Amino acid sequence: MGGIIKVNCECGFETDFMGGSGSENFETVCKAPALCLSCNKFVVENYMDKGVVCPDCKGKITYYDDVNLQEREGEEGEAPVKTTIFILPDAKCLCPKCGKKQMKFKHVGCWA
Ligand SMILES: [Zn+2]
Ligand SMILES: [Zn+2]
Repeated sequence: MGGIIKVNCECGFETDFMGGSGSENFETVCKAPALCLSCNKFVVENYMDKGVVCPDCKGKITYYDDVNLQEREGEEGEAPVKTTIFILPDAKCLCPKCGKKQMKFKHVGCWA
């Protein structure tokens, strides 16, 4: 099952995307948010495809389940993105715009 995720940061950066998989493609596709650390681009790519690179600079991308992109604090709520292979914790994440770990992901709906 896929989730509609809203992303926003205190600096004003905001976007949304469809994460996870649909019922048709769950065996091959799991959409997950990632960051290109070379050009600071927020991307959503297929977590199952290990050859994915940044669409802009063709560099390596880092998925947001990497602890280096997260700042955890105290009690955590429910993970906004949770699939069998990709779990995005309820943490403050590195923002591509301001470069601070204060961006939040929020589950706002489902798609399938
Ligand atoms: Zn890039
Ligand atoms: Zn920001």
